[in-house]
Amino acid sequence: MTTPKSGLSQGHLHPLTQVIGDVVRIFHELGFEVAEGNEIEKEYYNFDALNVPKDHPARDMQDTFWLKDIKETVLRTHTSPVQVHYMEKNKPPFRIVVPGKVFRHEATDATHEVQFYQIEGLVVSEDVSLAHLKGVLELFFKKLFGEKTSIRFRPSFFPFVEPGIEIDVSCFKCAGTGCSLCKKTGFIEVMGAGMVHPNVLNGAGIDSRKYQGFAFGGGVDRLVMLKYGIDDVRLLYSGDLRLVNQF
Ligand SMILES: [Zn+2]
Repeated sequence: MTTPKSGLSQGHLHPLTQVIGDVVRIFHELGFEVAEGNEIEKEYYNFDALNVPKDHPARDMQDTFWLKDIKETVLRTHTSPVQVHYMEKNKPPFRIVVPGKVFRHEATDATHEVQFYQIEGLVVSEDVSLAHLKGVLELFFKKLFGEKTSIRFRPSFFPFVEPGIEIDVSCFKCAGTGCSLCKKTGFIEVMGAGMVHPNVLNGAGIDSRKYQGFAFGGGVDRLVMLKYGIDDVRLLYSGDLRLVNQF
C-alpha cells in the first residue's frame, strides 16, 4: 500500500462550470427542468422556427458559422433551438432551463468570443404574463447576486418575443450609487427576455390562443465576469490555471 503524498493540489471546477451549476440549481428549486440539444442545428430550428425571417441581419454570413458540406446547417448561434424541439415534443404546461455552448462568427476582443455559453429559460402555460417573468427573474438574481439585488425592465426587440425586454440588475458593486462597473448608472444589463411570439408557439404546434409563454436568456460568460470581476472573456477560455485556481 502506498501512502499518498501530503500537500497534493486538488482539482476544482472552472468558474463557468460553477456558475452554470448555480444557475441550474436555482431554477431547479423553482421547478424548472433542464433541457439540452445539439450544437449543430438545421437553419430552420436556429432561425425560421424562431420567427427570424430570411432577410434578417442575424442570418448574415458574418454572424453565423454555416457547415460547408451539409446544406442549411449551422453551428447554433443561440440555445433557443432547444426550446423549439422541446415544444414540438411536449405538451404545456412546462418550465425548462437550457444551458449550452453557442457560436458566433465574430472578431474576438475583451467582450466577444467565437464560442461562449448561454443559459435560457422557457415557461409555457395558460395565463402566464410578464408579471410572472419579473417575479421569477427577481428571485433568480437575488439568489445569484445577493438578497439586495433588484431588477428593471427596458423595452427592446427580439424577433422571437412580443413584447421584448432587456433586463438590468442593480449593480452589486456599488449597490446602485454608480461606479465604473455599472458605468455610473447603478444598473447592469444581463439578459434579454419577453413573451414568446405567437408565431413561435404556433409553429411548434402549441395553440397560442390557449397558451402563453415567457422566455429569457443571456450569456453565462458575462454573468461569470460580473460575479468575479473578470474584465476579459478570453481569459475564461485560455486554459490558464492561474485564472482557474483563483476560484
Ligand atoms: Zn455600480
